[in-house]
Amino acid sequence: MFRRRKNDEAAPLAVDARNVVRTYGAGDNAVRVLRGLTLQVEAGKLIALYGPSGSGKTTLLNLVGALDRPNTGQISIAGKDILRMGDRRRSRFRRTQIGFIFQSYALIPTYTAFENVDLALRLLNLGYGERRRRVRAALEAVGLSAWSSHVPDELSGGQRQRVAIARALAMRPRLMLADEPTGGLDTRTAQRILSLFRGIAHAQRTTFLIVSHDPMVAEHVDQAYDLHDGQLIPRVTTPTTPITPIPESNEASVHVETA
Ligand code: ADP
Ligand code: MG
Repeated sequence: MFRRRKNDEAAPLAVDARNVVRTYGAGDNAVRVLRGLTLQVEAGKLIALYGPSGSGKTTLLNLVGALDRPNTGQISIAGKDILRMGDRRRSRFRRTQIGFIFQSYALIPTYTAFENVDLALRLLNLGYGERRRRVRAALEAVGLSAWSSHVPDELSGGQRQRVAIARALAMRPRLMLADEPTGGLDTRTAQRILSLFRGIAHAQRTTFLIVSHDPMVAEHVDQAYDLHDGQLIPRVTTPTTPITPIPESNEASVHVETA
């Protein structure tokens, strides 16, 4: 069921970003967003990133997700220096190792929930049977089994958001980058999704960076940070909720975690 990778001790940091500087524009118009930011995260940890609007949270996710490059600094993901990779390798690395739950990543309107999740898996060259198994498990894990043949127009905002979450989970990336993943969800659903993230982090050693404004997120993560003046300030106390046993009706989250 829950399979763990062996030789955990030797595992490199999931995220190792050091002295990252990201400035937009130049001269008088330069906006210094990240100012020597350092973030180190072990594999399998959940991290919450807080900070006011405009503080650079999305900028940071884009850099860690190999979608953007810093002006200076180093960024390694799972021991790989993503800034030294050529474009092809870099985009392959991103496609196979990093999952994005970004609000701007819209669903394809003419595709059903199933097809939207499946599309992401096609890029991984998985066989149809394996893809179907993963898509079903992921949709079930986010509570959308009954909606798999519906197109986005027939789903509520929260349901669409859960399709986007399922799409990222089905890829089983090493690192998951989520920008306000629970923003449009009611409290109970948000709790469920965060518990699901915890279960996946624990079972698959997936690392989660979760940008949020929701104080509840901090209760589900291993460490929370505040992005302030271009640097990360760790929050001293982060109450960590124990991993709750997965209730019967949530069995699917077990399936999604099975290697
Ligand atoms: P957050 O996600 O915390 O709201 P962002 O990372 O989106 O913050 O933005 C941080 C700052 O950088 C903002 O002042 C924003 O206007 C600026 N910014 C973000 N992306 C760009 C860009 N592509 N070009 C110029 N300025 C940008
Ligand atoms: Mg943002």
